[in-house]
Amino acid sequence: MNELLVVRNLVKRYGGLTATDGLDLTVRSGELHALIGPNGAGKTTIMGQLAGEIRPDSGEINFDGQAITRWSIPRRALAGIARSYQIVQLVEGFSVQENVMLMVQARLGHSFRPWQPVLRQREIVEPALRALDSVGLADRAREDVMTLAHGEHRQLELAMVLAMSPRLLLLDEPLAGMSQAESAVLVDLLGRLKRQYTILLVEHDMQAVFALADQVSVLVYGKAICSGAPAQVRADPAVRKAYLGDD
Ligand code: ATP
Repeated sequence: MNELLVVRNLVKRYGGLTATDGLDLTVRSGELHALIGPNGAGKTTIMGQLAGEIRPDSGEINFDGQAITRWSIPRRALAGIARSYQIVQLVEGFSVQENVMLMVQARLGHSFRPWQPVLRQREIVEPALRALDSVGLADRAREDVMTLAHGEHRQLELAMVLAMSPRLLLLDEPLAGMSQAESAVLVDLLGRLKRQYTILLVEHDMQAVFALADQVSVLVYGKAICSGAPAQVRADPAVRKAYLGDD
């Protein structure tokens, strides 16, 4: 499998705190790569740097052979890097489908003007409907977005990501705050998506991570201390000590 995302020696400091400390990370085409680590390890900071929202102090990010380290958020989105967020942004008073279209427009760098939406364009309507179908929300497309249940918001967030015709999905804790039943629906959905997409997944639910991931990287204090197949990572003494709390 070829290398789709290659991160080399990435550094991000906040004052005296080094949130990303010389990180190396490689995500190959077609894999689901999980990024795990304790709270505050720097996972979300890395997602932000990959999506272009946070500017690293030094290091390189390569995507599909191109150095994208200094690219803007929309340029990365157009190249196929699509990021999900822990908190789903909803625009009240619009339908489920319109919310997907508005968010895709915004993330691709079009102005965010709900009162004057650029909604009727075929290139936005069709991907939005296809994406809603992929996440199981097709029959809710015309309903007001506020009728969705909490667990369905996360499915909607995934639809927003999928509607961007992504080549790399950056999924930030898609299972956070979900009930067991809601998690099961999402794990099943992620299992289906991984057959079609390359995914970098930040997640605290270890059962889900070890069920879904092809590769796991363990982050501690902004550094990847171990990277490999799930079984290999689970057996690594340094991981057990630093992350799972074993002696
Ligand atoms: P969690 O699993 O709890 O979401 P995380 O692994 O995603 O944590 P980050 O949110 O990336 O960790 O934070 C890494 C470190 O950087 C933390 O110590 C955090 O307090 C710090 N940090 C993150 N963003 C900022 C910021 N804007 N200013 C200062 N410090 C920050």
